[in-house]
Amino acid sequence: MFKRLKDDSRPSLHVPRQQRTLAKTASVEGFGYWSGKDVRVEFRPAPADSGVVFVREDLPKPVKIKAVVAHRVETPRRTTLRAAGASVEMVEHIMAALGGMHVDNCEVWVNAAEMPGCDGSSLPFVEALAAAGFVEQKAARPTLFVREVTRLGNEESWVEARPGAAGALSVKFHLDYGSETAIGRQTLTLPVTPDSFRRELAPARTFMLKSEADWLLAQGLGTRATLKDLLVFDADGPIDNELRFRDECVRHKTLDLIGDLALAGCDLVGHFVAFRSGHRLNAELVRVLLTEGDMAGGWKRSA
Ligand SMILES: [Zn+2]
Repeated sequence: MFKRLKDDSRPSLHVPRQQRTLAKTASVEGFGYWSGKDVRVEFRPAPADSGVVFVREDLPKPVKIKAVVAHRVETPRRTTLRAAGASVEMVEHIMAALGGMHVDNCEVWVNAAEMPGCDGSSLPFVEALAAAGFVEQKAARPTLFVREVTRLGNEESWVEARPGAAGALSVKFHLDYGSETAIGRQTLTLPVTPDSFRRELAPARTFMLKSEADWLLAQGLGTRATLKDLLVFDADGPIDNELRFRDECVRHKTLDLIGDLALAGCDLVGHFVAFRSGHRLNAELVRVLLTEGDMAGGWKRSA
C-alpha cells in the first residue's frame, strides 16, 4: 500500500533517532473534567517497539488499550480510545505529553476511564515524565515522511500535511474566533522538538467560551471543575484567571494537534498546517497518512 521510494530519494540528513522510554515509573493524580471521578495515572517503562499502551487496572481483569488511531472512537470535544470492550477517555493531553517528549514506549496504568484534567494543560504530565527521566532503547524510531500535500476538511476548518524541512516536524495553527471575541484570531508556527514542546506548548491550558461552559454545566458535566482548572472566556477575557501566554488558546490547540499526531505511533516528518481544526480532522489526517505515506524503519501495518 505504501509508496515505497528508493532509499536515495530520502533526505540524506535524516538519521532516525533511537526509541525512548522512561527511566522509572512516574505518576499523576487528579479528577476527570467530565466525570468528576478521582483517577491515578502511572507511567511505566516499556520495551522497544511496544508503543504507548493504556491499561485499565480498575476492571475485573486489566484491559490493555494500545494508543493508535485505529482504536479512536468519535466522542465530542475529547479523544477516546476503545479496544477489547474497554475505553479510556480524554487521553489527548497525555498523548501530547508522551509524543511531545518522545516517550515512545510506555504503559499507562489508570484506575478510571477518564484521565485527570489537572490544570487543563500537558504540563503536570510532562513534569512527571521529566522527573522520572528518559532512556534510549536499542531500536530506531520508525518515521513517516510526508511527500505530498494532503488536505482534509472544508473552508470552515481544515488540516493539511506537506513536505517540510529535512528530518523535522513543524506545525502552523490558525485559530479564528472572529475579531469580536476576547480570543480573536491567533496564529502559531513552531518546529516541534521535546524542548520546544515543553517550553512553548505544554503549559497551554484548555479553554472554552462561557456560553459553552454554561451549556456543559446544564448537562451535568464538568461540575467539579472550577474556573481555576481551565480557561473560561467571557467578552473581556478569561474569568478569574490569568493567561500564561498572550496567545495561550492557539498554543493549546497546537498541543491538541501534537496529541492527535502521536496516535500515528511513529515519528512524522513534515509540516502540518491547521485552520480551526480539531481532534476528528487531525486524527483523520493521521489515518490517511498511515495508509498512503512513505514509511521508513521497519514499521508493521498490523499495529
Ligand atoms: Zn485539549
